Amino acid sequence: MDSNLGFADLHNHLYGSLKPELLWKMGLENPSPRWEIFTKPFQELYGKSIDTKTFFEDYKSLEKFKSIYLFNHQGPFPEFQAKFNLIIALSKFNPDEIKFVSKRITQDQYEEGVTFGEYRIMYSPLDTYDGIYSKTLASCEGFEEAESELSGRARSRLVVSLHRDGDVFKEYEMLKEMMEKNSLIRKYLVGLDFCYIEEGFPPKDKKEFLKEIQKDNKAETSTALTVLYHVGESFQDKTLLSATRWILESAEWGAHRLGHAIAMGLDPNAYLGKTVIEPVSERYDTLKFELDHWEDISNYGEFPSKKRLESELDSIRHKEKVEISVTESMVSETKVFQEYCMDRIRNTDAIIESCPSSNEYIGMVRDKAHHPLIRFARHNLKFTISTDDPGIFGTNIREEYKKAEALGLDPDLLEKVRKESFFYTSEILSGRIRPEEKVV
Ligand SMILES: [Zn+2]
Repeated sequence: MDSNLGFADLHNHLYGSLKPELLWKMGLENPSPRWEIFTKPFQELYGKSIDTKTFFEDYKSLEKFKSIYLFNHQGPFPEFQAKFNLIIALSKFNPDEIKFVSKRITQDQYEEGVTFGEYRIMYSPLDTYDGIYSKTLASCEGFEEAESELSGRARSRLVVSLHRDGDVFKEYEMLKEMMEKNSLIRKYLVGLDFCYIEEGFPPKDKKEFLKEIQKDNKAETSTALTVLYHVGESFQDKTLLSATRWILESAEWGAHRLGHAIAMGLDPNAYLGKTVIEPVSERYDTLKFELDHWEDISNYGEFPSKKRLESELDSIRHKEKVEISVTESMVSETKVFQEYCMDRIRNTDAIIESCPSSNEYIGMVRDKAHHPLIRFARHNLKFTISTDDPGIFGTNIREEYKKAEALGLDPDLLEKVRKESFFYTSEILSGRIRPEEKVV
């Protein structure tokens, strides 16, 4: 395929790319699937009990297997996770398998049009240095083999997902050391990701970490890494206002790409009449932010008076949680705030990673007319379109671009996004290579 016609898929989780037929086969060949990870939550969320003894007989037909594996309905993150757990249960996740999967996904994705892919992998928080080293190396070897068999027509890079609740400085230091030690890891490992549950993990906790990465990237470009940050994707515990603030903070504090950022583009009317309960710490930070930037924000439209914001700030000090009714005025306040944040983000280098299927299913964006992508496009924000977990969503990169077009995005704009995405790679954003070196 002519690389000029290819796609860069920059937001993709390696194991979430496993197609049903391949996962079924991997499971069958696995002598000891970790069933307990899958069966219990699946029973709880989908009300279906799984007989692990007859599983491969019961789900022998591809259609039946797809029915329990594919996540292609609207449902909150735990429902998605319950299906992702089938991947965790059936895979061995040892170096041999990781190498095989890395190679195979590069090839499969290439068949579907991807000529550059960044793939995220997440290790158990209990894994050891040696375990992480051998798995990371195995993935790089798989990518190298695939690239060589495809004569360089496709390239893959690795991104390691860190644990939001873990010692991220330690994890980072360890990965940097592995890059020093091994040239293959140095070449293929290009970024760090934060994914999984975001509720309860405000970006302010990662501010110092982001600072450190920026400092290190400047000091040594050859091992520079990006930070890819899932944010504003799931925000069940807070208002759209607070979730939007999180997105802006992540961008301004140095996250290179923002995973989904749905909250910033979602039409707040979707919440009209509802009540949102959020921790007082979030409400406090949001009110404080609104007050600190009141003059600028109110240029974007009708905004609550400073006095009103100040008196609320005073009144919540001793509470733990705040109940917020989404009234008409809350809706317009949120809209104004979103517009303000989008403008500020446009002035950063941050790129939004938008994944249409994922936003539809996990993000539960119900009304296509109010899809965040439309607003991102209208505001000239820099974004890329990606697959997220194409295997489990039953999608591919072309489908995702088609979905974006069906949302109402202009085909010419999408063609521009496709081309520009090759300039949004981790290696370019972290300063490791110059944009003119991006040649596929
Ligand atoms: Zn993701």
